[in-house]
Amino acid sequence: MHVIDVRDLVEHPGTSRTVRVEEAVAGLATELAEVPAEAPLRGELVLESVVEGIYVTGHVGGRMAFRCARCLVGFERPFDVTVGDLFVRDPGPEDDYVLGPDLLLDPEPIIRDAVILSMPFSPLCRPDCLGLCERCGGDRNLGECSCAEPVDPRWAPLARLDLDRREARET
Ligand SMILES: [Zn+2]
Ligand SMILES: [Zn+2]
Repeated sequence: MHVIDVRDLVEHPGTSRTVRVEEAVAGLATELAEVPAEAPLRGELVLESVVEGIYVTGHVGGRMAFRCARCLVGFERPFDVTVGDLFVRDPGPEDDYVLGPDLLLDPEPIIRDAVILSMPFSPLCRPDCLGLCERCGGDRNLGECSCAEPVDPRWAPLARLDLDRREARET
């Protein structure tokens, strides 16, 4: 990601600058979600000069590709995440975002963290996705499974009763 020269800001605490982001970031992926490498992130960051460093706020968005946690079908959705954190000049052990000694600010880590954090742990193609059958592997959304519904053991005696009656009628 392009680094941003913030020397002018650091020299003038209290001032701010808005920068546009439009860049692809590689490796934004978890097990079931990813930002496709060819899809650029777009957004806007406001860099504010404070005593400790540069406070960065704003948002970035783009396209996210998922694999449904239940039926494994691939699908895409737009996303937009907000960021807000301090890039410090004199980092302590707790500081995640640091301004280099050359006063160049690399926005990639703060964007990467926000995007990865926003990725759902188990994305669903739709809230009521029926998933795959555990027995035949067919996609229940597409009617690929014709396995009988497993019978709740508490109702098993009733099912047997019904069967007995039908057999009685047939004979
Ligand atoms: Zn699904
Ligand atoms: Zn089945």
